Amino acid sequence: MTPETVNLDKIVALCKRRGFVFQSAEIYAGLNGVYDFGPLGTQLRNNIKSLWLKHMTQWPEEVVQMDGSILGSGQVWEASGHLKNFSDPLVDCTNCKKRYRADDVDLARVCPSCGIKAWTDVRQFQLMFETNLGAMADSASKAYLRPETAQAIFINFKNVFSSCRVKMPFGIAQIGKAFRNEITPKQFLFRLREFEQMEMEFFCKNETTAAHFFDLWIERRRMFYQDLGIDANKLRIRPHEADELSHYSRGTVDYEYNFPFGWKELEGIANRGDFDLSQHSKHSGKELAVFDEETKSSYVPHVVECSVGVDRLFLTLLFDAYQEDEVEGEVRTTLKLSPKIAPVKAAVLSLVKKLNEPAEKLYTSLKQAGFAVQFDDSGSIGKRYRRQDEIGTPVCFTVDFETLDDNCVTARNRDTLVQARIGLDNVEEYLRKMLE
Ligand code: ATP
Repeated sequence: MTPETVNLDKIVALCKRRGFVFQSAEIYAGLNGVYDFGPLGTQLRNNIKSLWLKHMTQWPEEVVQMDGSILGSGQVWEASGHLKNFSDPLVDCTNCKKRYRADDVDLARVCPSCGIKAWTDVRQFQLMFETNLGAMADSASKAYLRPETAQAIFINFKNVFSSCRVKMPFGIAQIGKAFRNEITPKQFLFRLREFEQMEMEFFCKNETTAAHFFDLWIERRRMFYQDLGIDANKLRIRPHEADELSHYSRGTVDYEYNFPFGWKELEGIANRGDFDLSQHSKHSGKELAVFDEETKSSYVPHVVECSVGVDRLFLTLLFDAYQEDEVEGEVRTTLKLSPKIAPVKAAVLSLVKKLNEPAEKLYTSLKQAGFAVQFDDSGSIGKRYRRQDEIGTPVCFTVDFETLDDNCVTARNRDTLVQARIGLDNVEEYLRKMLE
């Protein structure tokens, strides 16, 4: 199937139909740029996060985890540069009142919505959500919802370093919610106001080691995407041009994915130099340098960052896995998700309801062994296969009359459609192998 035939509408419809994603507050007309995740969506997210964590922590250098607060003091965001720099250019059409990010429209042309050219001046719009702590709403009580998880890592660097017996170089990984008051949330899960990030800050000694680890992490991230089964032809690395580098960056590359709406950033990998720790040290007055026993001198660590959104990766995986083909004159929709992240690993089906007892026995034993499995006894077998294909279940085990004699089930593979008889005793082993 060509990429042109996978479109956002199909993905959105599938997500709703099968309980992956719902518009938040849908029964009240919805909240723009905010989504809720249903049972299958939650399972898929959890699997993505576990695999990300595995790929962060499986290397010789140590990477530890942390979980920072979502509310952040203004001082943190002052030091990080977000209060000054974290804004997008905003422009309004004075005719139809539609609002755009100025870099999304061609200001030399007419408004894409009403066709009249009547732009306001471009102004900067702060993307952080503000709130107040406590009963008094004054400048001293002002706090912000974090627009990224990274700063919690920087401000806790010294705490982690001195309490956890970690040795340089090492990393701190964090998965958590972030909030940005995006001017125009769009493309479903691509640009949200509330989203989740998976970020890892890797601390090393100096410019030379940072340059080495920058290259190394770029390669390690490629291996992550390979493990997820993402089509390598739809993934590319794009180094930032000098004029698009963030204020802190000494080098950034984006992993970009070829979405139906174009090549877009999926993950950013940045060599942040010693900017973050230096800034926080300067603003807090606290020493954030570490002592090097070898040279008997202190230094401020340099940082390499890997940052990817759970939601954006979730959407990428759906686009990448979505396929339609024709089976017996009907359209079959399949999510060819890697078994490692598929929300349901296997379905147990009974050919007829009379066979529910042995089928339920198998289903329960697989659940007890820790596999995410579903049981389905309604509708024709063909329909049940289709339901599982559509949510990406890699294999279905069907209990039929022969099972009573030979203690075997039919294992039907989602991708090859091959059906094989396997012993009831081997089902667990079969699944374990599939997930390796
Ligand atoms: P963009 O240019 O798309 O706004 P960014 O460069 O501001 O992204 P970063 O600040 O580098 O993004 O954030 C790291 C990652 O977090 C992104 O690569 C993306 O996967 C995710 N992310 C950022 N903003 C959003 C958002 N509004 N909704 C969903 N995911 C996001």
